[in-house]
Amino acid sequence: MASKKLRIVPLGGLGEIGKNMMSIEYGENILIIDTGIMFPENDMLGIDYIIPDFRYLMDKIDKVRGIVVTHGHEDHTGAIRHVIQEMRVPIYATPLTRGLLEVKLRRGRLLNEATIKTVNAGESIQIGPFGVEFFHVSHSIPDGVGLGITTPAGLIVHSGDFKFDHTPVDGWPTDFAKLAELGGRGVLALLSDSTNADRPGWTPSEAVIDAGFDAAFSKAPGRVIIGSFASLISRMAQVAQAAQRHGRKMALVGTSMVENAKMARKLGYLNVPDDLIVPLDEALKLKPSQIVLMCTGTQGEPSSILGRLSTGTNRQFELLPKDTIVMSSHPIPGNEEMVHRTINRLFQRGADVIYDAIAPVHVSGHASQEEMKMMMQLIKPKHFIPIHGELRHLKQHSILAQEIGMDPERIAVIENGTVIEFQDGKMSVGDRVPGGYVFVDGSWVGDIGPTVMRERESLAREGFVVVQLQLDPKSGRLQRNPEIISKGFVFMRDSEELFELARRRISTLAEEYKGDELEAAVEKNLSKFFYSETKRRPMVFVFTSDLRTPEVSGVPS
Ligand SMILES: [Zn+2]
Ligand SMILES: [Zn+2]
Repeated sequence: MASKKLRIVPLGGLGEIGKNMMSIEYGENILIIDTGIMFPENDMLGIDYIIPDFRYLMDKIDKVRGIVVTHGHEDHTGAIRHVIQEMRVPIYATPLTRGLLEVKLRRGRLLNEATIKTVNAGESIQIGPFGVEFFHVSHSIPDGVGLGITTPAGLIVHSGDFKFDHTPVDGWPTDFAKLAELGGRGVLALLSDSTNADRPGWTPSEAVIDAGFDAAFSKAPGRVIIGSFASLISRMAQVAQAAQRHGRKMALVGTSMVENAKMARKLGYLNVPDDLIVPLDEALKLKPSQIVLMCTGTQGEPSSILGRLSTGTNRQFELLPKDTIVMSSHPIPGNEEMVHRTINRLFQRGADVIYDAIAPVHVSGHASQEEMKMMMQLIKPKHFIPIHGELRHLKQHSILAQEIGMDPERIAVIENGTVIEFQDGKMSVGDRVPGGYVFVDGSWVGDIGPTVMRERESLAREGFVVVQLQLDPKSGRLQRNPEIISKGFVFMRDSEELFELARRRISTLAEEYKGDELEAAVEKNLSKFFYSETKRRPMVFVFTSDLRTPEVSGVPS
């Protein structure tokens, strides 16, 4: 009898930065790794965030043995409540990651429904047929892990997000000894973080940021406002230490910042004196030169604190001319334009803005090329699958693997939804499963498909035209000159002539068509007409009304 197959099913994070999620399968058993979200690009209008399309798992929920979460960043944890809503399976995480997951589950009112088990780096657990060993990796958040997964088909190593930082903020470098030990056992496949595969050399240590902060703090005449991600707990600790060195109090702005900091302090990942962190309203009463505020909004999101400060619409406090803003992050690919717009607006309002292009106030949390090669040299895998990155990063990572002598036949560059199978030590590409986007817009999950996105884009770019046709209820014939109005398409004063021509076209069509057919013909014809006249494609809505008098009946007394 043939041995069973080991299947690796990437549901997110391969071919993109963000929404990491993967399913590892053996026989009737599934292990999920990470449940992340991705932030929308600026052309995805009105979308709050994007979660992985995990439809593929929906008819296999009884086979899912658990979810292992590698670390607390949004792109690995953010979709947890959407997944737990569908499947009540145990979650395994290190203490800080667990704390961050709990904050999310509590907000989704799902904390009581979820079973979370704490695992520490260095520990091993058995989940169904999978023996999972958690090993520490340094990253831009404490308590991150990579995974050694022993399956009946062989040993798989998943790097998580990692860098080889010898002086990390939490003093806990990547567990090199464990990597070498796993490598010594013979690894069937390595799945490794590709985010920075196009950056030569080594990623600098987080420690260089301390000097960047010191320079910014000592020059700042007024308040220092640091922008970062709410889940960047290491950065929070560095800001707190800088505040202490420069005799300033620190306040956290925004619910997720406050909640995450509270949890990180409780668990001992943010060790600062009690009187260093003060509530925002208290901080605002102090002299500007005595405070540091830490908030979100480094990706140019208009609704974030930095976004609102840049447009003068923040409620609790406004920007002051002597404020120094430190953007302690790097734009996620696709967000550059919005980030630069926010920086420009902050300058316009008189603040000084320091960002990573001009001062060392941010370093990447991900390995660069030399670290990636070192990971491969330590693990010495038989097969290699680059993960976490856009296609260009995955490709570049595969080139690095070939440079150190890996056979291209043993490397699989794949995107979300392409299944990789291992049987009798051999790798092959399996079937395809869905692996696209699920848009989350407020409380609407997944109802927003590509068609709605295209409509929103076209509305935003080209505006719309509404045509009201008044039809005779009996004959369906056009009864009077149609009403046409538009928004965001042409300036009203210029529109009269254009709309008069449009009305004439409608009259011509009305000679040939009536009722629903007339409605459809007008829509099609006017779309073409507006394009030929203006080279723009507004959305054209046609609706009909008839002149029947409504019957009044049963008016309640
Ligand atoms: Zn990460
Ligand atoms: Zn990540």
